[in-house]
Amino acid sequence: MRATVMYRAGDVRIENVPDATVVNPTDALVRVTRACICGSDLWPYKEMGPVEGGRRMGHEAVGIVEAVGAAVRTLKVGAVVVMPFAYSDGTCAFCREHLQTSCVHGGFFGTVDVAGAQAEAVRVPQADGTLFVLPVGEDHALMPSLLTLSDVMGTGHHAALTARVGRGKKAAVIGDGAVGLCGVIAAKRLGAEQIVMLGRHPDRIALARAFGATDVVSERGDDAVARVRELTGGAGVHSVLECVGTDQAMLAAIGIVRAGGAVGRVGVPHYDAIPASTPAFYNNVTVGGGPAPVRAYIEELLPDVLEGRIEPGRVFDRVIGLDEVPDGYRAMDERRAIKVMVKP
Ligand SMILES: [Zn+2]
Repeated sequence: MRATVMYRAGDVRIENVPDATVVNPTDALVRVTRACICGSDLWPYKEMGPVEGGRRMGHEAVGIVEAVGAAVRTLKVGAVVVMPFAYSDGTCAFCREHLQTSCVHGGFFGTVDVAGAQAEAVRVPQADGTLFVLPVGEDHALMPSLLTLSDVMGTGHHAALTARVGRGKKAAVIGDGAVGLCGVIAAKRLGAEQIVMLGRHPDRIALARAFGATDVVSERGDDAVARVRELTGGAGVHSVLECVGTDQAMLAAIGIVRAGGAVGRVGVPHYDAIPASTPAFYNNVTVGGGPAPVRAYIEELLPDVLEGRIEPGRVFDRVIGLDEVPDGYRAMDERRAIKVMVKP
């Protein structure tokens, strides 16, 4: 089968690899009907050192179950499923607490150890706990939005929850990638009355406004902080959704959060220590977040997708085949595309 292999920063290839198969009795084999390139794939695309044999990329997918191992109980061949970016058994103490990303038998797709989904097929460990069966056919019109439940919509929702967005609250979103844009959807869905998007790219700003952003701040650094404070009567926002992962983004988050407020960070951190810890301390700011347990959120978000109340699939502005994946990485890295969908 064909699959995406990253050998080092900037070196992404489509190659013939051995067919994915069921290996363990708890596995399922899923034929990938749609996958994506993620903003988090751009970190290794920029930084990864050489990997012997390469890293099989991709952690977001929708597909069809083609085979199941002997111990799989809930999934049938032919089911249309969402594959969250982390696999999980669904039964351990952390899974029962809806923190599947900490599953004791869990892990992440698209790592050096577990093959990814930017491929014709993918082996899914802990299939019963991991896969979510969709109540629609494989070519349903809402498939782009359903695909976002594998990562970006659930991750935006996690940012909003950990930033404690609530009815009547003021929120700000740092990061105008697909996760930040889904964060706007999530903040609106949870009842925020003011949603400030920090971003500059006209197409992304337009989408943020369509999703519910009430204000846009295009300044950078201290000017951005000053502008958000001005827009919020000087006090700052109750909730900051930090969807980037750099120390500058975190500094801005602490700069714009209101005393007693919260920062939900979902951008993979590229700093050793959380910056601005002294002002965060004196302002009683809660810093939370981490990898989103998207498996836990699918059930909650699915009705809003199916009934058209939210349209996170609008973040996809380019659809490509597997052969074009290397160009898809380039397009996202150069910010020519917000989010790329792959149809193997
Ligand atoms: Zn578990």
